[in-house]
Amino acid sequence: FGLLHRRDPEVARVLLDELDRLRGGLQLIASENFASPAVLAALGSTLTNKYAEGYPGRRYYAGCEVVDRAERLAIDRAKLLFGADHVNVQPHSGASANLAAYAALLQPGDTVLAMELSHGGHLTHGSRVNFSGRWFDVVAYGVRRDTELIDYDEVRELALRHQPKMIICGATAYPREIDFAAFRGIADEVGAWLLADVAHTIGLMAGGALPSAVPYADVVTFTTHKALRGPRGGGIMCTGELAAKIDRAVFPFIQGGPLMHAVAAKAVAFGEALQPEFADYARQVVANAQVLADALAAEGMRPVSGGTDSHLALIDLRDMGITGAVAERRCTAAGITLNRNAIPYDPEPPTVTSGIRVGTPCVTTQGMGPEQMKEVASMVAQVIRDPDAVGEIRQRVTALTETHQIYPSEL
Ligand code: PLP
Repeated sequence: FGLLHRRDPEVARVLLDELDRLRGGLQLIASENFASPAVLAALGSTLTNKYAEGYPGRRYYAGCEVVDRAERLAIDRAKLLFGADHVNVQPHSGASANLAAYAALLQPGDTVLAMELSHGGHLTHGSRVNFSGRWFDVVAYGVRRDTELIDYDEVRELALRHQPKMIICGATAYPREIDFAAFRGIADEVGAWLLADVAHTIGLMAGGALPSAVPYADVVTFTTHKALRGPRGGGIMCTGELAAKIDRAVFPFIQGGPLMHAVAAKAVAFGEALQPEFADYARQVVANAQVLADALAAEGMRPVSGGTDSHLALIDLRDMGITGAVAERRCTAAGITLNRNAIPYDPEPPTVTSGIRVGTPCVTTQGMGPEQMKEVASMVAQVIRDPDAVGEIRQRVTALTETHQIYPSEL
């Protein structure tokens, strides 16, 4: 870092300011985490220099013998972790992994059944502003108004009526366990591929805190930077039957050279997730989310569906008379980073929303437990209710984070 500071103080300043932001505030964004120093070391390595189009042992560039080892380690560790037949660790992101899955299984114009964005689905599950909604005919299923849970009867009816070529399960803002067996049954009934997009929950699957989608789905897409706590990136698992199609869809169809430094960092993250402590971490992430959701409920902030089985809770703020946008702003001012989020059947537009989404991957990595979750809920509720409390809450945030630091103050 000293070298960067001498060569490029402007960029060095950005890195330091971001470190200060991470150290000085509470990170409750459900899709974020703190990568370990070992993951960061692999990311900041000379492997970024290498072109390695192709796959280990089958590259289109010379000099790939060393980086091949990194990719083989990543693949072997992911296979061991998830029991998958085949793993592709090259997707640059979760969205790229999904694009590759569509490309492997579908033709433009094919019908896809996926979760409604405003009920918790992802942009790549059929949004009009995304390739998925532009190039495919996407039919959406949602959650029931009364239970706020996925309506499996509706999923089945829509599947029978529209005969999709692919069904997607997995979400961005759905707090509950997903019944992959039920989705498998529906997909089999209509002869559809089943894609499980477990971008959010892959880390919980890795640690055994949520059931795995791997035994049920034809293709499983994921990200490595969320609860899995690895580098920013994506990946795909699939049956042996689909292996060649998936590999060709990633390279050469949607990507060129893989980011070998990120592939090495993925190997490190899979290695960390294979350690017994990671199962404790995953269980604690869920336990913390449940305590946080219950404590917010006690403050009059209603968790959608009544609670959570995962790392996140979606909170309906309508009873407080405050929008998601206002709540997000007030929390940010106090050093609490969370995001506004649409709730199912939200009367507010997507830029405003009636809800917030809170997640526990970061705070759990920092070693926080149930006691700290109660304090977090109290701070979130107080600052959302009373913007004048910002100064006091800022101090409480500092007191809490000072005793739960992950990164040193100097890089
Ligand atoms: N799929 C789901 C369900 C997600 O929640 C996300 C990101 O939040 C993605 C895909 C996309 O991941 P990325 O941002 O890495 O492209």
